[in-house]
Amino acid sequence: MSSTRYLVDKLAEERRLSVEQYEQIILNRSPELAAHARELACAQRKAAYGTSVFIRGLIEVSNYCKNDCYYCGIRKSNASCSRYRLSADDIFDCAQTAYDLGCRTFVLQGGEDPWFTDQRVAEIIGQLKHRYPDCAITLSLGERSFESYHALRQAGADRYLLRHETASARHYQMLHPADLALQNRLRCLSDLRDLGFAVGSGFMVGTPGQTAYELACDLKLIEELQPAMCGIGPFVPHHATPFANEPQGSAELTCFLLSLLRIMRPSLLLPSTTALNSIQTAGMEQGILAGANVIMPNLSPFSCRSKYEIYDNKVFGIEDAAAQLESLRKRIRAIGYEIVTDRGDPQAPA
Ligand code: SAM
Repeated sequence: MSSTRYLVDKLAEERRLSVEQYEQIILNRSPELAAHARELACAQRKAAYGTSVFIRGLIEVSNYCKNDCYYCGIRKSNASCSRYRLSADDIFDCAQTAYDLGCRTFVLQGGEDPWFTDQRVAEIIGQLKHRYPDCAITLSLGERSFESYHALRQAGADRYLLRHETASARHYQMLHPADLALQNRLRCLSDLRDLGFAVGSGFMVGTPGQTAYELACDLKLIEELQPAMCGIGPFVPHHATPFANEPQGSAELTCFLLSLLRIMRPSLLLPSTTALNSIQTAGMEQGILAGANVIMPNLSPFSCRSKYEIYDNKVFGIEDAAAQLESLRKRIRAIGYEIVTDRGDPQAPA
């Protein structure tokens, strides 16, 4: 414990470790070490952001996807998935509801749906920016070309979320078919950064074939990439995928990694993800208490929420947006934090 505790303290001081050191921390973690990491993480978060927890209004625009990721319930080969796509007007309605409730960031997320051409997405972004000039627009629409990202940035998109999923090329190939490669994922992240997007990356915890070494590589990549945001959540199996019978990832390990990420980068925007909240009672609160400072309430139309089923038993919220936000506010307040509804821009790295 003591040499591992020393490594966690070293991370807090130097903000970097070797892959081997990250691996050692993960392998030798204990409840005491996790409590120590949580304490450091909360102190770092308090210094950077006080007690603020930022909300991002999540709009799941389409569950059509041309990809066949082995873990994902909306993969193209899942014939049992009931497909939907929001129209531009549907998206504007969701945005209006989110705006009326105080959200100043909209996240448009979806499968890689070819219907969402650059022109269509750019028009939607243009409209949103025109109606809500005080809002940030975040996209999470998967891998696209440099030219495409350029067009979306020109149209006014501010941020882009694209998890790297796993930093090991060998492991990436265990999770994806041959037409998808880590190299291209990293190319996308680099293009997005070059174009001036605030970039969010991240990874799943507990995917098949993942060991402490792969997770250590994930932490090292985040340390080097320095994204504005990092989304991590447990892998949760979906019944109609090749990984249907694989065990789900651990909430405990996810929270421990949230603490390490916060210690590594006090200014990082770190969501407490739906996947964590779906596998663990009070998972959202546990994520915040481990160091997370962002939540992304689902503001998609009711009729679509259950269709964006990327894993089994996903919590999709049965309340309308106003009730959802009110109950989030209460839950967050109960653990000593406050929801703030401003844009929640990333702070300059400490
Ligand atoms: N198509 C976009 C992309 O690839 O970034 C956004 C949609 S994708 C469904 C969003 C994220 O869901 C992925 O980055 C992945 O980490 C996560 N995800 C997919 N299937 C999952 C599963 N079975 N368990 C946990 N997370 C999953």
